[in-house]
Amino acid sequence: MRAENVVLGCGIAGAFAAYTIAREGGEVLVIDRMTVGRGATPNSAGVITVHLDLEEEVLLAVRSIELYHELARGRELGELGLRNTGFLTIMNGEELDEYSETLRSLGIHTKVYDGRELKEMYPDLVIYYDEGGVWSGIDLVCEPRRMIGALRNIVSEHGARLLKAEIAGVKWGEDGIDYVLLGDGTRISGDRYIVALGPYTSRVTGIQYPHIILRCPAFKFRLNLRGSLPAFEDDVFSSYWRPSNHSTIVGGGYTADFIEDPSEAYTIPGKRHLKFTLKLIKRRFKEEVHPELIEGWTGPCSLTEDLSPIAGRIRGNTYMVEGLRGYGLMLGPALSEAVAMMALGKKPPINISAYSPGRFGHPAP
Ligand SMILES: Cc1cc2nc3c(=O)[nH]c(=O)nc-3n(C[C@H](O)[C@H](O)[C@H](O)COP(=O)(O)OP(=O)(O)OC[C@H]3O[C@@H](n4cnc5c(N)ncnc54)[C@H](O)[C@@H]3O)c2cc1C
Repeated sequence: MRAENVVLGCGIAGAFAAYTIAREGGEVLVIDRMTVGRGATPNSAGVITVHLDLEEEVLLAVRSIELYHELARGRELGELGLRNTGFLTIMNGEELDEYSETLRSLGIHTKVYDGRELKEMYPDLVIYYDEGGVWSGIDLVCEPRRMIGALRNIVSEHGARLLKAEIAGVKWGEDGIDYVLLGDGTRISGDRYIVALGPYTSRVTGIQYPHIILRCPAFKFRLNLRGSLPAFEDDVFSSYWRPSNHSTIVGGGYTADFIEDPSEAYTIPGKRHLKFTLKLIKRRFKEEVHPELIEGWTGPCSLTEDLSPIAGRIRGNTYMVEGLRGYGLMLGPALSEAVAMMALGKKPPINISAYSPGRFGHPAP
């Protein structure tokens, strides 16, 4: 089997790489095992915000949000499992102006609320006397399983061919990948390859780069609410939440376990993580909300040594997008668009040279 462009993996990174190639008029085949519930994307919490620490990542998140809208064009966002909720960061009052100014300097419209205003707006939250919040309106949330299913359908409507298959490995040559070997022995060759296998990248392709894999938990709680809730980051107690359906919230605290193999990533969060998360909820929500655990799950996150993603050319005809840590829904679309544009020999809308795989030497085997 042959295709001009072959994308390995169809999580958030692969889906947007394939979409970009199809949008630019290229012929593209995307291969993914598409096992329900596996991969980082369907197991994520579904927060897509521009409230990130690094300015260059904020700009990537802004571009990613534009791309979600671009992909949804002609449809309601809801058909993609996406919702425009805006996003609030609750933080120490002293940091509000500086934080808001940073976002504004990047072209993001923000509002700053003092603690009294937040208490009125969100009667279920405990807001301490020295706290306030920075709000922006462009941020999205999603139901990740629905979203990735819908994205795959839309990507195929744009002309990408989706192949549900297990990738057994790849054959490397002088100029990058020679062919992709499927589990049933089929060989697939292309002019260019984009590797978007997330935490499975090393195992499947042999590409080497310093990284670790974490098993990250997320939770869904039902709350007895009096008012509405924002999608928010609690910068003071270190947790993040988004509203879901029927008075539920999804998110958690920043805890995780190291794992060796991404297949170990899918379990039920340990008691330690649940206890920790409940502690954070109790600090931020009023007692009357009575959090009731609906479900908890875990998924893989991969982090590079310098914590920045890897996006760019590996060797010759082969490119990759990986190391999206807990921010793949925010950074992945923009990075994948840029990588796909590079692969097609076109100018990416955002300069991603800082994420070049070359910073780790020669990752290709
Ligand atoms: C609990 C949790 C919460 C998170 N919350 C958020 C959040 O709120 N916001 C956010 O931005 N990010 C969040 N993340 C991070 C986000 O999920 C990841 O950064 C992102 O999904 C990575 O996308 P990816 O496309 O690189 O990898 P993946 O989604 O893992 O995609 C890789 C694809 O490759 C396929 N594949 C792998 N091996 C093979 C093979 N041998 N053959 C065929 N196919 C194969 C897999 O099926 C998969 O579809 C969270 C992650 C976790 C675990």
